[in-house]
Amino acid sequence: MRTPRGARPRRATSAEWSDWRWQVRNRLRTVEEVAAALRLPGWAQNVERGLLRRFPVAVTPYYLSLARPGKANDPIARQILPAAEEGVALAGETPDPLAEDALSPVPGVVRRYPDRALIVPTSFCATHCRHCFRKRGWAGGGVALKKSELLRAVEFVRSTPAIRDVLVTGGDPLHLGPRLLAMLLTELRKVPHLEVLRVASRAPVTLPQRIDEELLALLRAVRPLWFLTHFNHRVEVTPLAASALRRLVDAGIPVQNQTVLLKGVNDTSAKQLALARALLALGVRPYYLHLPDPVAGTGHFRVPLDRAVDVVRGMFGKIAGFGIPRLVVDLPGGKGKVPVMPSFLRRRDGDDLWFESPLGGGEVLYRERAANRGDARSRPGVAGPPEPG
Ligand code: SF4
Repeated sequence: MRTPRGARPRRATSAEWSDWRWQVRNRLRTVEEVAAALRLPGWAQNVERGLLRRFPVAVTPYYLSLARPGKANDPIARQILPAAEEGVALAGETPDPLAEDALSPVPGVVRRYPDRALIVPTSFCATHCRHCFRKRGWAGGGVALKKSELLRAVEFVRSTPAIRDVLVTGGDPLHLGPRLLAMLLTELRKVPHLEVLRVASRAPVTLPQRIDEELLALLRAVRPLWFLTHFNHRVEVTPLAASALRRLVDAGIPVQNQTVLLKGVNDTSAKQLALARALLALGVRPYYLHLPDPVAGTGHFRVPLDRAVDVVRGMFGKIAGFGIPRLVVDLPGGKGKVPVMPSFLRRRDGDDLWFESPLGGGEVLYRERAANRGDARSRPGVAGPPEPG
């Protein structure tokens, strides 16, 4: 039997704990169960029943075990415990701000960009992340496309040569039946004009047991393949999660991480740095840091843009550039992602640019005209400025 580190709802043998099917079968499905396991008596009374029908609870025992009991503001607890605020839709928030339903040419396909398409084969997830931008799909336990619908989605890609890149996402696509998942990825791989194939899954975070040998064999067989995952906090990078990531990387599958910047979970530079360092050490690149989308029922997670920029600014000079995720806003209406970079340019005086150094110590001058001197010298008849001494 395993010794609980944190809140573990039931004892499990090591074999059970390591079995992703056991984890899925034993998910906690009510707010009462989760609140009791987290030792937060009275929490469930504040959460309205209608809200729980729209946005049901689901947590794997593994992911729950990462939370510290008795702390409602624990970063894991905040991601799995339904909150009364989920019933409040703030101005501008909608169930589908990225207009995915409107941008779906055939069931299960979303096309926002001319060259890319999403295939969403299922809305099922083992763990329901309360900040999820697709939480509108949770009611009723999630649905999966049938084989005929999956083939139709592939046919849409095959008959649209402009699509070079397909992201299979969800819900969690790794919860599609193994045969259907194999069929989907194998058929996509056969599309001659498809240059990039990606799979997005939060399984390494909430169910790392899912990255088993059978799955790795399938993913290996459809390479080149990119794997995107979604770690939000350093505490999620457990030995089991690290092992899942290592096995993906060792299988020749590049792994990138997309974090959502969540109030009260990871909205400090120190937390982002700790996560980025842990991921880089495993060969996983921190890719995007998303400003939360204006999704109804997630307003309590939203972080103002200025704060988000400060969080990223605080990472510069403390980790290699490729360890700093790109802060992005996914524009409402499916209008695409845009990056927001912190600026270190403090002022300019003609060609003199004054920058703030991420290492501190005051402003640093960069002379823009220095770059133009070479141009001037290279033109016949134009005298260049003297060489610096
Ligand atoms: S795993 Fe992803 S799709 Fe599923 S609930 Fe969490 S954020 Fe949403």
